Amino acid sequence: MPQTDIPALYELLRTRLVGSSSEVGSFIDGAAVAGGGRELPILYPADGTLLQNYRDATPAIVQEALASCAQGQRDWAALSAQRRGELLLQLSTTIKLHAEDLAVLESISSGKAIKGCRAQVAAVAEIFRYYAGWTDKFGGSVIPLPGGQLNYTLREPIGVIFQIMPWNSPLYLAAWNAAPALAMGNAVLLKPSELTPLTTLALARLAIQAGLPAGTLNVVAGLGQTVGDPAIANPIVKKVVFVGSTQTGRRVNAAAAARPIGCLLELGGKSANIVFEDADIDAAARMAAIAAFSNTGQNCVAGSRLFVQRPIYDAFVERVVAQAAGYRIGEPLDEDSESGPINNAAQYRRVWEMIRLGLDEGAELAHGAAQAPEQNGFLVGPTVFKNVRNDMRIAREEIFGPVLVAIPFDDEDDVIKQANDSEFGLGGAVWTRDIARAHRVAAAVRAGIFWINMYRDMHVATPFGGYDSSGYGRSSGVEALYEYTQTKSVWVPTAHGA
Ligand code: NAD
Repeated sequence: MPQTDIPALYELLRTRLVGSSSEVGSFIDGAAVAGGGRELPILYPADGTLLQNYRDATPAIVQEALASCAQGQRDWAALSAQRRGELLLQLSTTIKLHAEDLAVLESISSGKAIKGCRAQVAAVAEIFRYYAGWTDKFGGSVIPLPGGQLNYTLREPIGVIFQIMPWNSPLYLAAWNAAPALAMGNAVLLKPSELTPLTTLALARLAIQAGLPAGTLNVVAGLGQTVGDPAIANPIVKKVVFVGSTQTGRRVNAAAAARPIGCLLELGGKSANIVFEDADIDAAARMAAIAAFSNTGQNCVAGSRLFVQRPIYDAFVERVVAQAAGYRIGEPLDEDSESGPINNAAQYRRVWEMIRLGLDEGAELAHGAAQAPEQNGFLVGPTVFKNVRNDMRIAREEIFGPVLVAIPFDDEDDVIKQANDSEFGLGGAVWTRDIARAHRVAAAVRAGIFWINMYRDMHVATPFGGYDSSGYGRSSGVEALYEYTQTKSVWVPTAHGA
């Protein structure tokens, strides 16, 4: 790959999409607002280069953002449903016009491989197109009653929604969550991860360019506690949406419950990818690697627990190791990279600690390094552990890195028991040629998303969400429209002379 001057490219794209260095902070009521707290760095994950510092937000900035959202929501909800749809469709078009810039800025500032960033930006445009179509197609109903009264329901916006996002797919997750909320007439205050605020700030600017009223989509960039605590406590916020780790999700949930207001949680996972001996072995092995290593394992639905039926266990793990050896984790902007580095130093340390722990627990390292090499930046190669037991910590905890643990199983009952022996319930898959068994396993595994003879496909039109410690609520498809509306039941007497 020709040498790219990453800081210069970052500067160019940031200036185009977000503004000058001092304009990185919050975006409120159609304008940039600089932070006032301590300095926070934005690093290039491939080699740790400092791209820029910006300042954390303050409680006063959070208050300003929410006051603007309150007015923005009134303006937005006052538009007809058709007009809101037109504006969201315009936002979809505006995103397409800036697609390549957005993809490259996302790749540099989050470390995601450029190929994946391009696909996600295209998906972001599709998300807004999809929900633009729903604005005037989702309403209440008339309830049949015994007589003498008319009762009908209105589906009304909830108001101002506060959405907290992680760093693993910053723009995609911002759009995935904001679009259905906006479609139903709510205003959104987005808090991106303090590590990856750039493309979320760009999205809010593009929303203004597309014609959404100021205050409809505000962004406050800063640390979780600086922004999270005052926002959740603020009476302007009527619902909280949290995408991130289960640990932080518990805190956010407790703060929302104290008000109390609604909360939608999309949390971590340790998804079971189950391979029976009668499966299409080539396809299963190829996808087992992709399921575990795509985005360097920084995927909430990563197929990080691979269950393989005992008679094919050794041979299948060998095939997965061959796939791992050919899987290219490299520079984010390299067109040949399938995935980029780990996003940040803390996560990088955590991944190596978990690899160390796997060795200490007695698992066998079938592929990958046993310890971190001397290097700048956060690159970790694909790692496969064999002879893992489901009670080991490497099989129970989310690692959020390119670490696959392969566990043997005897039969259907055994694998269902092991797959469900997890605090998480986000994704899962089964590989088999036995159709009846495929559906039995799909029904028996506790998970919100399940694939049969495939892995990882997602579309905004289908519901997404977890069971158990992976969270609750559904963030996409038609189901998201219920999350972002509340039902009013209206009565009127209709009997003669009433
Ligand atoms: P994280 O929990 O550390 O942070 C997520 C967000 O919460 C960040 O914006 C952070 O600033 C904020 N935050 C931190 N403390 C807070 C507090 N006290 N109050 C309010 N907000 C606070 O998660 P992460 O490390 O950024 O992301 C990785 C995690 O996200 C993984 O566990 C992954 O599985 C999960 N994830 C889940 C989904 C899903 O849809 N289920 C999607 C993507 C990522």
